[in-house]
Amino acid sequence: DSAEAAGHGHYLKCRYPRCDATATLAEARKTFKSCHNCSHLYCSRECRRAHWERHRKACLHSRVSALCRLVLSTCKDDADTLRHLSVLARRGYLSQGRGVVRILFRSPERADSFIKQGFQCLGEVSYVRWPDLLPAEMGPELYSELLKLSTEYKPDSKMLLYVAICVVSEAPGSATAPVKWERQLVSRCAKLKLCRTVVSEIASGPGAGERPGPRPDTVGDVLVLSFNILSKTTQRAREQVSQNVQTVLRQRGVNLRKHYPEVYQRLATFVEGSTDRFLPVTLHPRDTATGRSFVCIVMPNYGDTERVQFPVSENGDDRVVTVDVGADLGDDLTSKL
Ligand SMILES: [Zn+2]
Ligand SMILES: [Zn+2]
Repeated sequence: DSAEAAGHGHYLKCRYPRCDATATLAEARKTFKSCHNCSHLYCSRECRRAHWERHRKACLHSRVSALCRLVLSTCKDDADTLRHLSVLARRGYLSQGRGVVRILFRSPERADSFIKQGFQCLGEVSYVRWPDLLPAEMGPELYSELLKLSTEYKPDSKMLLYVAICVVSEAPGSATAPVKWERQLVSRCAKLKLCRTVVSEIASGPGAGERPGPRPDTVGDVLVLSFNILSKTTQRAREQVSQNVQTVLRQRGVNLRKHYPEVYQRLATFVEGSTDRFLPVTLHPRDTATGRSFVCIVMPNYGDTERVQFPVSENGDDRVVTVDVGADLGDDLTSKL
């Protein structure tokens, strides 16, 4: 889709639509600046920066998202990598319960090396149990998808992979301001089969069929506060959601306004109606009554499932309480918690 296709012959046009600068291929090779993430060429840094605000989304997401997909297929096809990830997924599941194997690449180049050279260039790998997934890191769509996958996958034969690639990009700004850089993660997930060796070890190993319990220090309570956002169109209905969230948290000694002003503000904005979106958020507060920390997830649902299902571990390692904060909780609330 280069400028040549647009009828410029062997001339290249600056990709900034408001700029008419052209150059021959030879000249462009010397003087044009390419986009940091893709092959777009600009006559100058100024044009590159000016176009970035419009170009950034398409650019990052098409290129790096394609890289994520290649990383996932490499994980599946490279035997050493698959074995390594399978063992990690198994250990993670046994010690921490359901979760996701997360692979982080610090740059698209590193992801590229992994795709070309395999296991020896694998990125930073860790196991993230599902309540610790961060909606802010992966965006609300992927977060919801991963939560759903976490409930469904069969840990005896499958694992969940989550690939994130860090992209550094020039922040949009005026042509005269100093260049600013910002980091952004582009990510994708998939469900893969565990490698055969690990599956057969599970099937035949000592204690097959019975699972060791998780280590006590990883046991945690998870409180999910969800509501059908589609039915919350009036300020009054949204106010109820906001009140319910605060009430439920207050019962655990958490003052949302004081302890999480940013989340409180986001709820207030949602109630005011200046936005119809409410992005999922994960808090890690401490219950003042018991002194134990817990995970609280506040998230909208879109009414697609009758009741949102959340992963409940087979060995009961996490105590998950789901509250529909869209409903009139009334006196029922206290008995539920
Ligand atoms: Zn680009
Ligand atoms: Zn230009």
